[in-house]
Amino acid sequence: MHKSVIIIGAGMAGLTTAAYLSRAGLKVDVYEQHTLPGGYISSFVREGFTFPAGPTSITSNGIVFPILKELGLAEKREFLHVGHQMSWGGHDVPLRNARQARDELSKWFPGQREALQRYFRWVEIGGGGFRQLVESGMMFGQGILPKVLNLLVKHPLMPWASWVARGQTNRSLHQRYFGDPDLRQMFDELAYPIMAAQNTLGMWISYFDDTWTPAGGMQAFANTLVRFVREYGGEVHLGAPVERIRVEKGRAIGITLRDGTRLDTDWVISAADLRHTCLELIGCQHLPPGLIAKLEAAPPSEPVFAVFLGLRGSPELERAFQRFHEPHVIFTCADGATIQIAWLSKDDPSVAPPGKQALFVGRLDRYPDWEPLKADEAAYYARKATVADELIARAEEFLPGLRAHIEVQDAASPLTYERYTSNWQGATTGWNWNPALAPRFNFAKDLPLKNFYPVGHYTFNPGGVPTAMITAWYIAREILKQRTA
Ligand SMILES: Cc1cc2nc3c(=O)[nH]c(=O)nc-3n(C[C@H](O)[C@H](O)[C@H](O)COP(=O)(O)OP(=O)(O)OC[C@H]3O[C@@H](n4cnc5c(N)ncnc54)[C@H](O)[C@@H]3O)c2cc1C
Repeated sequence: MHKSVIIIGAGMAGLTTAAYLSRAGLKVDVYEQHTLPGGYISSFVREGFTFPAGPTSITSNGIVFPILKELGLAEKREFLHVGHQMSWGGHDVPLRNARQARDELSKWFPGQREALQRYFRWVEIGGGGFRQLVESGMMFGQGILPKVLNLLVKHPLMPWASWVARGQTNRSLHQRYFGDPDLRQMFDELAYPIMAAQNTLGMWISYFDDTWTPAGGMQAFANTLVRFVREYGGEVHLGAPVERIRVEKGRAIGITLRDGTRLDTDWVISAADLRHTCLELIGCQHLPPGLIAKLEAAPPSEPVFAVFLGLRGSPELERAFQRFHEPHVIFTCADGATIQIAWLSKDDPSVAPPGKQALFVGRLDRYPDWEPLKADEAAYYARKATVADELIARAEEFLPGLRAHIEVQDAASPLTYERYTSNWQGATTGWNWNPALAPRFNFAKDLPLKNFYPVGHYTFNPGGVPTAMITAWYIAREILKQRTA
């Protein structure tokens, strides 16, 4: 008789776990509350335009592509490389490599030339080492010592680059390098300002050459995994919210769906929000007080407000779009606020009807500004319309005349992200990026529930698609070890 696994949530973590376990012959059932699979890696369509429900692009980080290769899916899904540029006022600087970025920024910030030289030397040295490490397969845990020795031979200054970043955040690191407050702020806002400076290196590497988008949109990526799971006999049940993880004598024995259906299984894996999983699906009576305290103290990652625009084509729009040297733009507005603009149909015209363009405009947001509006629908929609309008006005600083071309418009607030994925407070990537605030878990101790495993972007910091997939890889291996033990 095949051993069975129930997986809660069909995001990247749930689908990756399901892919490995169904391929290994386990009976796998994934239960997903939404009617679409993918979690944040899904899409929605409005009048022929395809928009991303979460990120506009992902990084592989030495994880995503190796996993797809291991599953034999590398050939089945095409990914398009996505470049980035920094823009402010009338200036545009594509980010292609450390020296080019340094030289172009030095033209606009001549007083910071030396600081830029020192900073990008650090980026070049640290980034080279970082790239080698992630590409070495280090994330998959085997042969770590030889990999580190090899790294030291090829990148002898890597320990210095790590030392520079040690204990720093993105913001404090830039404070050390740059006297010009405008440049400093622009660098802080290239990603989460409070993230660990070690991740700043990862950010530069991903901007230079490791950012990708699946051809056909994000849903196409999730669908590839769903097809794989089904080909191996697994099932992905959509529109099937899980209400409870059933626990008996310290052991997970099955789940109850919201419609009351009770299902038994050998293992339960939750790829849903960890707080929701523990506090609502498992229940505090089955959890150690230490874990409850950790979960209640841990702040989520910052949410996003996004506007999705379907644009009518015209010669004026074409002229305005010439500002895009790369499809992803981090734009500093006249008042110093930062927004992200992604020209979704630049390299993948399939996401817009012929002759039209799909655009994403987003910025980091604050959940406390939205939470009170949960109880007041009219006030919520009014605020959503106002914020969307503000964001379009900001995008017009970069693309004059944008508004006149809008045919289709939609928006997502932190409450929208929360509603569709149950990520607490609309968290984009699990826990907060501030290393001082993110919790550390030792699940063997913190969550000693037999036959149960959590996976996904809350189980390791920082979160993101590579984290979701690598945590799935490790847990699938663990279950396969237990099956044969
Ligand atoms: C705007 C935005 C930008 C981002 N940018 C990036 C980026 O540039 N790079 C990057 O790597 N990552 C980025 N991320 C984060 C990335 O998308 C996520 O970290 C990753 O997709 C999380 O995958 P997951 O499987 O862990 O969780 P999720 O995608 O959240 O999947 C969890 C699934 O569980 C389901 N679920 C929850 N509760 C239940 C229940 N009770 N019953 C059944 N199903 C349930 C949900 O519906 C969901 O489908 C971004 C996210 C957002 C929103």
